[in-house]
Amino acid sequence: MLRRRLLALAVLALLPLTACSGIADDGKPQVVASFYPLQFVAQRIVGNHADVTNLTKPGAEPHDSEITPRQAVLVSRSVVALYEKGLQPAVDQVIANDPPKYAVNVTSIVNLSAVPPGLGDEYAKSNDGKAGDPHFWQDPNLLAKVADTFTATMVKADPKNAADYQANNVSLQADLKALDTDYRTGLAHCTSRSLVVSHDAFEYLGRRYDLQVHPIAGISPDAEPSPKHLSELSNLIRTDHITTVFNERLASPKLVDALAGDLHIGTAVLDPIEGLNKSDPQATYLTLMRANLAAIRKADSCS
Ligand SMILES: [Zn+2]
Repeated sequence: MLRRRLLALAVLALLPLTACSGIADDGKPQVVASFYPLQFVAQRIVGNHADVTNLTKPGAEPHDSEITPRQAVLVSRSVVALYEKGLQPAVDQVIANDPPKYAVNVTSIVNLSAVPPGLGDEYAKSNDGKAGDPHFWQDPNLLAKVADTFTATMVKADPKNAADYQANNVSLQADLKALDTDYRTGLAHCTSRSLVVSHDAFEYLGRRYDLQVHPIAGISPDAEPSPKHLSELSNLIRTDHITTVFNERLASPKLVDALAGDLHIGTAVLDPIEGLNKSDPQATYLTLMRANLAAIRKADSCS
């Protein structure tokens, strides 16, 4: 820990930021977002008025991800940091030790729901048992709340561009509302309302749109399921006539492939949208959410 802090100090001099101002050489305020869905919100709101840095690199998943000393300095010197307390302890630590001008913690905007029993043990332990299920962005209405608070913070941090931040938020709110409407209508009439997914990232989605989510692994992609859990899941897939087990892009497909192979059913991709995939540079939160909707409609035979 001490070593990391010393390293952070050592790279201070290398950064193109005027000391403690949060303003880069290009004169724009610096904003950091701790992982992709938050970066998406930040970028939509700030437009060209600020530089947004994502602390999680593309293709990586954010659970417990570390940050570099250089990123730690960037966080402390940013005007606004948008992050989710509990998901990335390394980010929490930097913000606690050396806070940016404004730190927007999404867990004080969104009430995180409890981690489902039995599955989140590891996650709960690593966060003093206090943290809830982090995957709130799977409910577009909750991401909209975060956008409102982030906008209000940008207005305070950079008042001369307030009108643009507010206009950008109006446009983002409309996009999120349209996405919510597509989910409501798209999932209104389905033969099944079950989702078997690889890691437990879809509870918020399930609650909002009335789907029963059955995760193979726990709240983090690397949480291993017990043999008992796997056999219960196999029984459910048989009795519920489930056609598809969902994989995701950033985590290993091993468990999903094994389960689907054993039961002779199909697999498809449902993206938890924790990060973007390098091979799909055009993707955004909105396109990935719509691709997920199409995959669910197919698996659950929605008309
Ligand atoms: Zn996750």
